Amino acid sequence: MKRALPLAEPSCGSCNVCCVEYGIDGVKRAGERCQHLVGGEHGCDRYDTRPRACAEYRCAYLTGAVRVRPDALGVVVRETAPVGAIRVLHVEECVPGGLQSWAWCKERSRLAGAMRGSEYVMWSRRGVVSSNATRVQWHVTGETLLAVMA
Ligand code: SF4
Ligand code: SF4
Repeated sequence: MKRALPLAEPSCGSCNVCCVEYGIDGVKRAGERCQHLVGGEHGCDRYDTRPRACAEYRCAYLTGAVRVRPDALGVVVRETAPVGAIRVLHVEECVPGGLQSWAWCKERSRLAGAMRGSEYVMWSRRGVVSSNATRVQWHVTGETLLAVMA
């Protein structure tokens, strides 16, 4: 039997999607390209002094929950703090049509399968993408997801 080759760790490479899609307090608003995003090895012109939120950010591709890098998938996903026991996934389209693509459809089904047994909500700035938490009404206002117990 041949020895299996080690799988490469997911890495950002030339992605930089999170430097556009997410708001960072004191730096930029959501959906705007960061003024510090200039290309080069890390993309950021203040990489060594970047905000803690940037340094600690890991999208679902980096954690292994999503298999396709955001710039190729057209959708970026991050898991944020739960609402009670309900898992919360913030998903944003970063390429036009990303949320309607077949590739995202497959990843969304895979994510939902991985959360089987848990209640969850997937939401974007446009509204709720998917949820099995039926006792909750979800409202999206700007960058915020509001949960109202039904
Ligand atoms: S969206 Fe994910 S893969 Fe892309 S640069 Fe940000 S952390 Fe890296
Ligand atoms: S400060 Fe740097 S790491 Fe943070 S969003 Fe801007 S370009 Fe990205």
